Amino acid sequence: MATITLTVSQKTLENMYQHYATQIIKIPNHTLFQAKTAHCTITAYLSKKVVFQGKSPELEATKWESSLQSPSKSTPALSKLPAQIARLSAVGCDEVGTGDYFGPLVVCCAYVPQDKISQLHSIGIKDSKMLKDSEICQLAEQIEPFINHQVLILPNQKYNEMVDRGMNANAIKAFLHNQALIKLTANLNPYPDYLIMDEFVNERKYFDYLHQLPKKPSIVKENLYFIQKGESVHVAVAAASILARASFVKYMNIMSKKINFDLPKGAGNPVDLAGRRLIKQIGKEQFKDLTKWHFANTKKIVK
Ligand code: MN
Repeated sequence: MATITLTVSQKTLENMYQHYATQIIKIPNHTLFQAKTAHCTITAYLSKKVVFQGKSPELEATKWESSLQSPSKSTPALSKLPAQIARLSAVGCDEVGTGDYFGPLVVCCAYVPQDKISQLHSIGIKDSKMLKDSEICQLAEQIEPFINHQVLILPNQKYNEMVDRGMNANAIKAFLHNQALIKLTANLNPYPDYLIMDEFVNERKYFDYLHQLPKKPSIVKENLYFIQKGESVHVAVAAASILARASFVKYMNIMSKKINFDLPKGAGNPVDLAGRRLIKQIGKEQFKDLTKWHFANTKKIVK
């Protein structure tokens, strides 16, 4: 058992609280929290002394050392993924619907344990951008029952409200991914070693967006890696993209039936043409709720 003690600022103490919120085991007297990770137990005292104790306390303590040297905002330096990452258990995170004028934003995170990796490859799980929607829905049906995952669907009405409150698309994605990760990791025991976010914004920005939220959420941060083309790094990211896309397609089908109008995907010319017909049919208010209103399509449709 090794012990490392740090004295931190109030701000860092609060960041630690958020960082470890999902791993708090108890709140002893005179402490803000006591949390347990795979590496050690962390006891954060109200006096701002923080004790890391266990088999590898340095793995946690080093995350906070940069914030000791400089009072400016910093995120823990993340080491690179191991070379054999494709064969290790991991959570993958991806989203769809960001470029679609109609249809919701959908994020998904999916946990693929080591012993299911080869099975997912063999049934054809790969980047959803390389698959037709019909294939995606079939694959999603096959994997839904046996991999632990969380899908969050943000209808455009809610999306527009968030944009009106000053959030941009990346801030909204960060918010949703974090929510999905909170739910998923609550079901995973032990906490996974690798959480791979298909990078849509850099890591520093991602955490800035989360810190800027008015209702401070707990932030899933431990073992989270931001990786470009994540689906080629781990099948869990590809699985997440497939599950997200399948939910998106289903949602679009349901909405199309409900309003008796075939909603097109994407944001190209067919969307403008369909938009002009649809807005006449249902009126501007109802139409707005179906769209990502801030897209350039709106100007072309409304004029
Ligand atoms: Mn992606």
